[in-house]
Amino acid sequence: MAPRYDLIVVGAGPGGTAAAKAAAERKLKVLLLERGRRPGDKQMSGSYLFRTITEEIFPGFEQADFHKGQIRLGGVDFRWMLDNDEKRHGISVAPGADVMRNWMTVYRNETDEWFAEQAVRAGAELKTALVTDLLWENEGTESARVRGVVTAAGDFEAPATIDASGLNSLIAERAGLAKWGVDKVMLGLKYIYRVDGEVLRQRLQTYMDSDGVEVDWGATQMLCGSNPDHFGAHATGMPGRGIVSICFYSALKEMVEARVNIHQRAQWYLTQPTCRRLIEGGEFIYCDFHALAAGDMVGYVPKSYLPGLLLVGDAGGFSQPVDNFGANVALWMGRMAGELCADMKTRNDYSEAMFARYEENWRNSWVGEDNVPEISVFMRDGSLNQVFKTMDDVVSYAFACKWENTSYPSIILGIVPKILPVLPALMEAPHLAKRAAEVGLKKASPLMQLLGMWPGTAPNAPKPKGE
Ligand SMILES: Cc1cc2nc3c(=O)[nH]c(=O)nc-3n(C[C@H](O)[C@H](O)[C@H](O)COP(=O)(O)OP(=O)(O)OC[C@H]3O[C@@H](n4cnc5c(N)ncnc54)[C@H](O)[C@@H]3O)c2cc1C
Repeated sequence: MAPRYDLIVVGAGPGGTAAAKAAAERKLKVLLLERGRRPGDKQMSGSYLFRTITEEIFPGFEQADFHKGQIRLGGVDFRWMLDNDEKRHGISVAPGADVMRNWMTVYRNETDEWFAEQAVRAGAELKTALVTDLLWENEGTESARVRGVVTAAGDFEAPATIDASGLNSLIAERAGLAKWGVDKVMLGLKYIYRVDGEVLRQRLQTYMDSDGVEVDWGATQMLCGSNPDHFGAHATGMPGRGIVSICFYSALKEMVEARVNIHQRAQWYLTQPTCRRLIEGGEFIYCDFHALAAGDMVGYVPKSYLPGLLLVGDAGGFSQPVDNFGANVALWMGRMAGELCADMKTRNDYSEAMFARYEENWRNSWVGEDNVPEISVFMRDGSLNQVFKTMDDVVSYAFACKWENTSYPSIILGIVPKILPVLPALMEAPHLAKRAAEVGLKKASPLMQLLGMWPGTAPNAPKPKGE
């Protein structure tokens, strides 16, 4: 007979470790399966984690040793390159060190290992095994239920399985819950260079924050090509570790269609002055790849559970569709899934209705509210580029006029025709505004009901259609 657990968690990334820890703390017998030689082994180094949620789930995170030598960004600098010349249109946001302190630079190969240690400390059992399939009860019938997993190291059974195995999850596909195509996948490529720490410090002009972390005050830019085939690239220098990490992202579908290799795309960025200066004299150490759901045009899975199975994090396509930060979404969903499984055990209720609660919970949360995949179309079809270009034109025009003593009313009149051509592009942005209105209405509904202003709640009001 296959070994039996209360909960099987597949994947020791942020989602899986958070789920395993939450459930083990509630005394469930948890098996955490990871295909890598160790958790984090398959991860692609640098990343940004949100301090609050991570510290909440993994107390001690902010004091952990792996933060040594990391850098803090003082702001975000997001620019479009047009025609590969020196002219850049973009937006720089520097909300200040107090705000950026909650955005922590980490190496995921270090943090994932530490997260998994915390889950093990809470009582979860960690095993190295590649999950290749699901075990079913009544497979192919209406009462089908997942009863465990098949791995290279044997089968394991549990009344609940959490799939946190990341993007393009084999399990989610086997369960019939997800079938992502190339349109969902971004390819991330990272080049790592060794550069002398003191030299880097001078190049980045860093300063030491009051908590001992070095701050790069917005010296590195996120650059996007005007050609949507090249989505973006950014470089992060870490004087404390003496390395520069350069990341390139490109949509798989667009690369296939344009018949380009991501290394070719990388060459463009490496020749940009800010990047060239950062790595000058450095030694290339290694590169690695990762798939991610960034620039998400497909959205989340339509259904995130089956009896016996819950999808967490990237496995369900839950990478943040607007800003692409998927790790904190995975952490948050992982904890929620782990706690729900503990609740099922306490009630001894593994009914479909209990599994369905997971979906109900995330849909009614910030994760559900943020599911606006259309916004990434706006970013990738060139519309955002056009908006930035217009902003640049307007500002350049206004300054040029001012230096020649043109009056402000005349400047405004001159700006109007520059704004008109970008209006069609802006017509795509209302997806987010529409969602904001929906969320606002939902939030206001209890008060409106109380005041009798919600359809059907006013005295003698006609009932809304369908009731
Ligand atoms: C280059 C890059 C940069 C990114 N930067 C950020 C960032 O700065 N901030 C942010 O929040 N997000 C970032 N993301 C997205 C973020 O990495 C993901 O959203 C997040 O890792 C999802 O977590 P997860 O736990 O769902 O899955 P993963 O982190 O992908 O973890 C899945 C785990 O499951 C294991 N696994 C997979 N298949 C199996 C199997 N069959 N059997 C056993 N184990 C298996 C994998 O080895 C892995 O350890 C970035 C992604 C990339 C690629």
